[in-house]
Amino acid sequence: METQIITIKKSEAYSDILDKLSKAGELIKQGGLVAFPTETVYGLGGDALNPEAAQKIYAAKGRPSDNPLIVHISELASLDKIVSAVPDKAKKLAQAFWPGPLTMIMNKSAVVPMQTTGGLDTVAVRLPSHPVAAEFIRLAGGYVAAPSANLSGKPSPTAAKYVIQDMKGRIDMILAADDYEGVIGLESTIVDMTVDIPAILRPGYVTQAMISRVIGETDIDVTIFDADSGKAPKAPGMKYRHYAPKGELVIVEGKPDDVASYINQQVRLHRVKGEKTGVIGTDTLVTKYDADIVKNAGSRDEPLIAASRLYTFLREFDDENVEFMYSEAFKNDGLEQAIMNRLLKAAGHKIIKV
Ligand code: AMP
Ligand code: MG
Repeated sequence: METQIITIKKSEAYSDILDKLSKAGELIKQGGLVAFPTETVYGLGGDALNPEAAQKIYAAKGRPSDNPLIVHISELASLDKIVSAVPDKAKKLAQAFWPGPLTMIMNKSAVVPMQTTGGLDTVAVRLPSHPVAAEFIRLAGGYVAAPSANLSGKPSPTAAKYVIQDMKGRIDMILAADDYEGVIGLESTIVDMTVDIPAILRPGYVTQAMISRVIGETDIDVTIFDADSGKAPKAPGMKYRHYAPKGELVIVEGKPDDVASYINQQVRLHRVKGEKTGVIGTDTLVTKYDADIVKNAGSRDEPLIAASRLYTFLREFDDENVEFMYSEAFKNDGLEQAIMNRLLKAAGHKIIKV
């Protein structure tokens, strides 16, 4: 399949942007697939109300079809058509965090096909804030099902070049728009609104504390951090080993100096065996690492930088054929909780406490 790659620049005349987005929207209405930028990561969009389009999304990604898709809307008024009822707490969260990186799960209405929801009676909904995403969704008919625009098992794409790497030849169009600010680089927070006490199924930029401030008590799915809980994650996608780099990743937790000396000791052992090493560290420690490749995740006071760079680092390590990777640990709190969750998944939950 020929994939059109359309670049959109913030500085372009708005009428030109609209022209490109209406062509992209038209493709969706005809049942095609278009990758588009959002404020979290790039999405792989298809018409959420068209069962064949949903099936094409699974095929393009190589994604198991029991892993439901998030339905993206462009205005709050669109919500009523796809859910059976909007709980009061969902209204409050929508008011506080939409448009933005928050996905809410509600009971679905009959118009949403089972193919979109992976056979569930519930539907995940998000209203993104990225201006290109918002306009594209509107011009595509208002309901765009979109998982992240990566091949299943690869890190979510935070730049157009990674979408092109994974999806060229598999979908109709890629909207490449890398020069918009405020991109977070980690997927949305997912909250289950179908239970009395809403529960976070995937941590993200919108934190548990931010949500609790608006609706009171909020739970968090234990499987997010405890690989040995014996429970199945409530978000089917969280059970898969996502974001897996080709090499082996280990997270190292402890006092900064202990972390650096443990990692350097491991690096020396690998070097003796001729194995290539990589480290993800924060800015006060990065100069201390002796690894072959060292990535700077920025300051611990600004976790947004680490969030926005994490998936790029994992993809670069793959491209650089790094065999053994080490990352400093992050806190189980705030935005760092989302970073740590993605790192744990990439590491297959391998964590060493020094
Ligand atoms: P992605 O689109 O790649 O960010 O993945 C979407 C995530 O949302 C996956 O982990 C899904 O399992 C989860 N998800 C989507 N819809 C539902 C739903 N109705 N109930 C629970 N989890 C959902
Ligand atoms: Mg994904």
